[in-house]
Amino acid sequence: MSRSVYLDHSATTPVDHDVLEAMMPYFTSDFGNPNSLHAWGRKARKALDEARNQVAQLINADPTEVIFTGGGSEADNLAIKGIAYARKDRGHHIITSAIEHHAVLDACKWLGKEGFDITILPVDKYGMVRLDELERAIRPNTILVTIQFANNEIGTIEPIEQIGSICRKQGVLFHTDAVQATGHLPIDVKKLPIDLMTMAAHKMYGPKGVGALYVKKGVKIAPLIHGGGQERGLRSGTENTAGIVGFGKAAVLAAKRLANNENENEKRLRDRLIDGILERIDDVILTGHRTERLPFHTSFCFHYIEGESMLLRLDALGIGASSGSACTSGSLEPSHVLLAIGLPHEIAHGSLRLTLGKDTSDEDIDYVLENLPKVVESLRAMSPLGKRG
Ligand SMILES: *Cc1c(COP(=O)(O)O)cnc(C)c1O
Repeated sequence: MSRSVYLDHSATTPVDHDVLEAMMPYFTSDFGNPNSLHAWGRKARKALDEARNQVAQLINADPTEVIFTGGGSEADNLAIKGIAYARKDRGHHIITSAIEHHAVLDACKWLGKEGFDITILPVDKYGMVRLDELERAIRPNTILVTIQFANNEIGTIEPIEQIGSICRKQGVLFHTDAVQATGHLPIDVKKLPIDLMTMAAHKMYGPKGVGALYVKKGVKIAPLIHGGGQERGLRSGTENTAGIVGFGKAAVLAAKRLANNENENEKRLRDRLIDGILERIDDVILTGHRTERLPFHTSFCFHYIEGESMLLRLDALGIGASSGSACTSGSLEPSHVLLAIGLPHEIAHGSLRLTLGKDTSDEDIDYVLENLPKVVESLRAMSPLGKRG
């Protein structure tokens, strides 16, 4: 008997039923342009304002500090290029880490071609940025440090408070890509030394194509998109009202789950899955940190087999997983994250990520623990990579 078990919530989450319901009127009856002065426009404007309050409340920001964007990648680009252009008279040096999402790494690399100086910090075997390396990397002309809150491939949570404190002490702005963490970990931007922070609705049960950048009051950034001057001139274009309303509702629901400690149950299932896999299968390692880890995140490397072949077998069994070693566009390079934590190529190729959601059940975990060992055994039996014995 086959089940359907989606364990790829780091890639995207389903839209919560209540979120969809909150969005629906803004496609139909309440379709107005929030910039129009008539009743239709005012209704949409009111909905936008409320959503901004809701997203701000989730992270304890002021609503004026929330800029809505077309997703996480756009918010990352706005933060990094926006600071680079606004501060280029003060310096040309930007610091990031080796395990960032491509939206951050490639924005930095592009700025590198534009004449900025980019330092890419190494990480330890758990994927933690080394604080002493960060301290040494900061120069008088450093304008921005951008380091993620938590990693999408290996789940490691970075020491954000310490990183931010180092930046504050040196007078350098700090941006963090918190797409994986927002709504899943408590985040208070008044307590944490963060100047800019990226969020995305679709990683927290909201719709795709909507994100936000938190920009601390007083921090000046340059826009990427010019036009009608929406979002305080930082993101022109008629607002995605329905999407933004959905993001607001998703923020309210996430805050409620956090207040009810619902991620404790996710954590329990996560640990059941990790322990179960490590007990039942030989020659497998957990990647990322065991405890400084997203509550819904598990990731492994299996010796002697390819992550992609595991993924396909699991898919046939109704299990949705992902592999960090996706051989993108035919290249055989494994994930930059797995290489950065020091894994050799042949082990990094055997990576598998299983990320749980709020509706994942004990039965779902049972199903994976029953089937994954068989998949691994069968693939290893035919593996050319040489499983011993
Ligand atoms: C998904 C993700 C992004 C990109 O967000 P989009 O909304 O898909 O553009 C950026 N950073 C991290 C860490 C992510 O997991």
